Amino acid sequence: MRQKTIRRRVEGIGIGLHKGEPIRIVLEPMEANSGIVFYRQDVSMSINAHPSNVINTQMATVIGLSAEKSISTIEHLLSAVNSYGIDNLRIVVDGGEIPVMDGSSASFCMMLDEAGTRALEDNKRVIIIKKEVEVRDGDKFSRVTPSSEPIYHFVIDFAHPAIGRQEYTYEFSKKNFLNDIARARTFGFLKEAQILRSMGLGLGGSLDNTIILDEKKILNHEGLRFQNEFVRHKILDAIGDLCLLGMPMLGNYDSFAGSHKLNHLLTKEILKDPQNYEIKTFANSIEPIKAFA
Ligand SMILES: [Zn+2]
Repeated sequence: MRQKTIRRRVEGIGIGLHKGEPIRIVLEPMEANSGIVFYRQDVSMSINAHPSNVINTQMATVIGLSAEKSISTIEHLLSAVNSYGIDNLRIVVDGGEIPVMDGSSASFCMMLDEAGTRALEDNKRVIIIKKEVEVRDGDKFSRVTPSSEPIYHFVIDFAHPAIGRQEYTYEFSKKNFLNDIARARTFGFLKEAQILRSMGLGLGGSLDNTIILDEKKILNHEGLRFQNEFVRHKILDAIGDLCLLGMPMLGNYDSFAGSHKLNHLLTKEILKDPQNYEIKTFANSIEPIKAFA
């Protein structure tokens, strides 16, 4: 099983969720063992996708050196990158956010389809979970346990008539991602959106890129893409957040009411103790893991 990058450079443009300004994004091939690297052109900042570089997880996962030198909302793009089995990639933007596109990973999948993938000379590395690792915040938790297949299980429970309790189990693979996860959009509440706007944030948020709910119902005229789109999006976020481990993760992910914050703490907790994991290099003689092939 070989490491992968993209075959050719591709670019796109979209609105940033927070500033509401257009941002150009370029995906470029990288050589083996480079990992996922972000480059913010306007401030000449290059930064690796790694938990130690995460500086904020309040509204989205933000990577950077400081508030001024940062890139926000990396998770929907990383979710697609992780699901396509891409190990090495340079992500270039000319602003402080990855464009929100339609609030899901669908546009990034289209970019990656356009770019194609290319196998590199070096063997693929996978992080194998060896011990249970859990992070909690009251009754909320995110946890990984050893497993021979990468499986994600998520439960949410919102006291809102249009959401309620939703549960979803997802077997990680590119095919399942495209069918069941990639199109699930981010969501938010009108009340919170109004508060954010008053703080000069969420200026790009609209019904074009967010499922917006008032106290009782969904405001988007087109309705939902899946009846349980909310919990599917939480899995989309988790896949993107766990991409920061730096290589595909072989383990079970399980969460109740998890968040970017808990996912981030989980990646740090996993990497903190080398007994929690093993990094395995997949030489050609080793049976490949189908989900990552
Ligand atoms: Zn999200």
